[in-house]
Amino acid sequence: MRLLEEKILLEGKVLEGDVLKVDCFLNHQMDVPFLAKLAKDIYAHYKDCGVNKVLTVEASGIGLACLTAQFFNCKMLVAKKGKTSNISNEVYTATAYSYTHQKENTLIVSKQYLSKEDKVLIVDDFLANGNACLALIDICKQAGAEVKGVSCAVEKSYQNGHDALVALGLDVYSLARVGKMENGKIEFVK
Ligand code: 5GP
Repeated sequence: MRLLEEKILLEGKVLEGDVLKVDCFLNHQMDVPFLAKLAKDIYAHYKDCGVNKVLTVEASGIGLACLTAQFFNCKMLVAKKGKTSNISNEVYTATAYSYTHQKENTLIVSKQYLSKEDKVLIVDDFLANGNACLALIDICKQAGAEVKGVSCAVEKSYQNGHDALVALGLDVYSLARVGKMENGKIEFVK
């Protein structure tokens, strides 16, 4: 999506450790009218898939996921990050290695809010190695929910996430695909 690529080039910063910082509009301060444009584009891609729930992981995907759910006129569910201890059997859990915090997180979703009736669209801010999305897919599988697709605002296409999700047969739609980040310069996949 051209609009997002231009915004990234204008406002994004490449940090140490291969991290792209876009927290001035995407995941810390949120440019809500701009995120609504991204959400509208996601909706246009999946509108005929029967999506009835949007699923994300706390916290950085929440803004975009919320706005996306508005277009689908459906609920948005946030997988919480918690500790492995203190987990009841009222919840689904999966572990995901966090790219930015470099630690293992347990993702938790209440069994109350996800079931085999659900047709789920997974939305997140970034797709890197795919660990967060794979953990969310695992949770959907436990619930018997059907994953209709995975959509992230920014995909770092040179990492493994995209291919891992496509290999599962999923419809992966990333709004901006970064092909290279070197010496502070960002290049997109054509
Ligand atoms: P993955 O699980 O696909 O390896 O990484 C995706 C998660 O890590 C996202 O939820 C996102 O919060 C975070 N992440 C991965 N790469 C970046 C990045 O370059 N910049 C930012 N801000 N977050 C990232």
